[in-house]
Formats: sequence, C-alpha cells, structure tokens
Amino acid sequence: MADLTGPPAPLERAGIIAVGSELLTPLKSDTNSLRITDALNQLGIEVVAKAIAGDDRRELAAVVRSMLDRVDLLVLCGGLGPTDDDVTREVVAEVLDRPLAEDGDVAAAVAKRFADRGLEMPRINLRQALVPAGAVVLPNPKGTAPGLWLDLGDRAVVLLPGPPRELIPMLQRVAEEHLAARTGGRTLVRRIVGITGRTESHTDEALGPLYARWASADVRISATILAALGQIELHLSARGPDAGALNGALDRAASDVQAVLGADVFSVDGRGLEAVVGDLLVGRGWWIAVAESCTGGLVAERLTRVPGSSRYLGHGIVAYSNAAKTALLGVPPALIESKGAVSEDVARAMALGVRERSGAEVGVGVTGIAGPGGGTTAKPVGTVAVAVVAGPILRVRTLRLMGEREHVRYQASQAALDVVRRVLQG
Ligand code: ATP
Ligand code: MG
Repeated sequence: MADLTGPPAPLERAGIIAVGSELLTPLKSDTNSLRITDALNQLGIEVVAKAIAGDDRRELAAVVRSMLDRVDLLVLCGGLGPTDDDVTREVVAEVLDRPLAEDGDVAAAVAKRFADRGLEMPRINLRQALVPAGAVVLPNPKGTAPGLWLDLGDRAVVLLPGPPRELIPMLQRVAEEHLAARTGGRTLVRRIVGITGRTESHTDEALGPLYARWASADVRISATILAALGQIELHLSARGPDAGALNGALDRAASDVQAVLGADVFSVDGRGLEAVVGDLLVGRGWWIAVAESCTGGLVAERLTRVPGSSRYLGHGIVAYSNAAKTALLGVPPALIESKGAVSEDVARAMALGVRERSGAEVGVGVTGIAGPGGGTTAKPVGTVAVAVVAGPILRVRTLRLMGEREHVRYQASQAALDVVRRVLQG
C-alpha cells in the first residue's frame, strides 16, 4: 500500500474570528486581527475572511462552522477567560467534537500564578485548564489563559487570548513553532529597524531604491513601514529554507538602511529607544538624571522599564509647578518670569539643575504644554522644550508636537530620549 504520510498539508487560506461582545459596540475596535493578519501574511498565508462574534455560544458556533468550511487555518482570539461569558474554548471543542478534559499542568500553572501573588485561586479559573482532546497547550507567560493549537491534519485551529499583551508574544511563538513548519519547509526571519527624526513618507521615499534592490535579490526581502508614535518602524522579513542565509541577508539590508538614513536609525534589532539609551550609558559608564514637567515622570518611567536601569538612572524629578522647578532644581524665578516656564532657557536650567544635584554625567530637562488648555499663539499646545546636557555638550530643542495630551506627552518623552541618544552617539 502506498505510504500516505507525507509532510503535512501546507496552510494557505486563513480565517480569523475575534470574540468579544465589546467588539460589537462602537467603543472598542478589533485590533488583534490586524496583528494576526500581519503574522500570517509574513508566512505567506493569506487571510480570506474575518468575523467578529459576541460572547454568545450559538452565534460563535455558527461563525466557527461557516469559517471552517472555507479555510484551512482558523485563528480565534478572545473569550478564553474564566467567566461564564468566555465561551470560545467550549464552542470550538463542541464544533470539532473534541471533548474537554482538565489538563493538570495548565491547572498547576494557573494556580501558581495566583499563589505567586499570595492569592487563592477562584474555582472558576480551572475552566482555563480545560483542553480539547488532541490540542497542544500554548503557554501564556503574561496571563492565566493558555492558548490552544489544534492540528486537524489538513487544517488547523488556533485559540489565542484577547488581551493584546498576551496575544502578541503567543502569536509570535505559534508562527515560529507551529505555522512556519506548515508553509512548505520554509522559515521566516524578521528584523525591526527603529527610526526617528523622519516622517513615514520621507523614510519611504529615501528607502525606495533599496526596496527595488531587495525585491530582486537572491534572498528576497520584504519591507513594511509602520508609523508609531514618535518613531517609524521598518519591518524587514525574508523567507527561505536556510535561516543562516536569511539572517545574513537581513543584516546586510539593515546596514543598507543605516547607510541611507544615518543617525536617524536608532536600532536594528528591535530594541526600543529607552533600551538603546541605556546601553549607550552603560557603554560609557555614565549616569543620567531627568527633570520633567509636562511628561510628569514618563521619561524616567520609560528608562526604568529596562531591566538593569539602576546601573545608570539614579534621579528622576517631577517639577510640575514653577515653585517646584525653583525648589527642586534651582531654576531662578526671574528666568521663569522672563522666558516662561515652557522655554529653552528653563529646560536648560532644569537639565543643569538635576545634573548638578544628582552628580550624574547626563542631565535632561523637559517642559511643555501638553494641552488641551494652556496654549497661546506664540506657544501653542504641543510646544515642548527639551534640553540635554552631557559632559561638555549642551543641546536644546523646541518641538511642535501634534495630537491629544497623551500623544504630546509620549512624543515629548520620545524626543528627550532621542536627543540623549544622538548626543551619546556623538
Ligand atoms: P482571554 O482570552 O484572555 O480571556 P477575554 O476575551 O476573555 O480574553 P476580555 O476581558 O474580554 O478577555 O478582554 C481583555 C482585553 O482584551 C479587553 O481590554 C479587550 O477589549 C481586549 N481585546 C479582546 N479582544 C480584542 C481584539 N480583538 N482586539 C483588541 N483588543 C481586544
Ligand atoms: Mg472577551
């Protein structure tokens, strides 16, 4: 008899179902499916249908059935929680006729998450340990609900948690550990290049010649530009049988980008700006101190997100009022009076003040108008002054940032970190 056990059928057509009644209201949009689509596309898997279902067994079952008829990969997200309205697991098990049974390892992992925080696990959380027969459990380091991978031979079904911070890392792992093997023996390698100081369209225009070259190279590289708040990201990816060759090609592509964009490239390995700044400080053995007004501690918060930041950050001072700027940082009241609290002179005095008081090598001052009130014709909402003093260098910039209060504040923190980076990179 012929051997019918060849490689598993490649997965080519995918469907996505986002589960959650809040996604059917005007208050909440489904962004998870965009992430999922991106991850699948990068593997060469096309998304042919998407749906949103509320937390309702009958509706969800109907959507799952109709999708399963049309796709060979079905990805569901959300509704894996412990409460009665989290129905995804049960509905999928029922539609696929895979009975649910409690998985001891998952139950222990969920219980441990509670125990680690000194809490008793509510009984209902054991629902999250129910696993359909034949499913592979996808660990969730960021939450209690594990994901599930169900291989149906010619098709596959994936269940992912709803909260984006849990879904994103799990999606990455599913792509690498399960889906990559189902795309015909090819792997996918990715690189994220972080860029500041340019708009999306300027970046795109500058990189145009590179795109053309990459598209016709031996190892084809695809590039996607994403505009994020205060930075542009260039996502590079390559697919092929040989991971070493792919990595080599992506290294060269990242160097190409650096050659074109110069110091506007802050990272070629996915590190965020705060981590890049941290590494530069460690490299010099320098300390940084931050004096913040409109950002209210956001710059310090971002710096301390990086593990090991105690090696270079000792002081973060929030001096919101004029009185605080004088008392905590020694900014002369006459300077605030004559130049205004949002001015390059005051930012400079804040940076110098915090540096002197902390004994750090690098001082940062940020002062601005986050809005929505407080703007004037001369200094509209979004006006932010940033000063960085590092060794003998003093750099001061005034920015005109756009957007809501939170956007202005975040971009101000980004600008402050970016000035530090550029100064430290010489
Ligand atoms: P889990 O599977 O982890 O239990 P859940 O659906 O039970 O997820 P919810 O409490 O409903 O969890 O959602 C958690 C958070 O994730 C909420 O803020 C919710 O709005 C968000 N979320 C759920 N689905 C999506 C989605 N498709 N896009 C964006 N955000 C989502
Ligand atoms: Mg939900």
